[in-house]
Amino acid sequence: GKGILSVAEENAFGKADLIPAVVQHWETGKVLMLGYMTREAYEMTQRTGKVTFFSRSRKKIWVKGETSGNGLDVMDIRWDCDQDTILVLAKPLGPTCHTGSISCFDGSGLQEKKPPFDVWSELQATVRERKTGDPDISYTASLLQSDVSVVLKKLSEESFEVSLATLVESRDRQLSEWADLFFHIAVALEKTGVSWGEVMEILRKRQGTGGLVEKKGRKKPGGKS
Ligand code: AMP
Ligand code: ZN
Ligand code: ZN
Ligand code: ZN
Repeated sequence: GKGILSVAEENAFGKADLIPAVVQHWETGKVLMLGYMTREAYEMTQRTGKVTFFSRSRKKIWVKGETSGNGLDVMDIRWDCDQDTILVLAKPLGPTCHTGSISCFDGSGLQEKKPPFDVWSELQATVRERKTGDPDISYTASLLQSDVSVVLKKLSEESFEVSLATLVESRDRQLSEWADLFFHIAVALEKTGVSWGEVMEILRKRQGTGGLVEKKGRKKPGGKS
């Protein structure tokens, strides 16, 4: 039942008083921080749905965000192969690092090259910010502040440009058109109030269903699919 640990979980805490818990962003996959959990911290995390650690410096239970408000809502908890490390997938309520960074692993300056998932999530964040930006300075702001039909028209144009580039242009041109398309997808999602996570949730539900079976079961008013 809820709040009661399984035999495997009890065994894990029987072997170690403190278990490292990696926290990963539910939507972007970004690694946010590392903390340590005692049995009590783990049980509280499960019961409350709020990531709770044991602070090694303060030597007490620490509900992440208890003073800053920047807590972490638990979406999923996973143990590693040999049950000595926890992975918590979470939705952060604010910047996770006490320095104000989204992740504790940001801004060390040692690593220059952003991984692809960071580029995509940062693009989405930038697009969101541009909603209230100056349309004379920012193309994204001007798109977001124009009619939805303008945004949707750009989306279909860019999708057509991908096809064209694939058929008759160089690989560099193809990549550039794919980049345009992804940018316009980010803008269109923002403009229409649809989140990347919601779309991924639909794709997740479709997994395991054979593609053709799924397509037949899908309702598509007014046309062929
Ligand atoms: P919070 O749990 O966010 O209310 O922060 C409480 C205190 O915990 C802060 O003043 C920091 O000393 C420390 N702290 C907060 N977040 C982190 C973190 N991601 N990694 C290490 N220490 C943290
Ligand atoms: Zn392990
Ligand atoms: Zn930090
Ligand atoms: Zn284009």
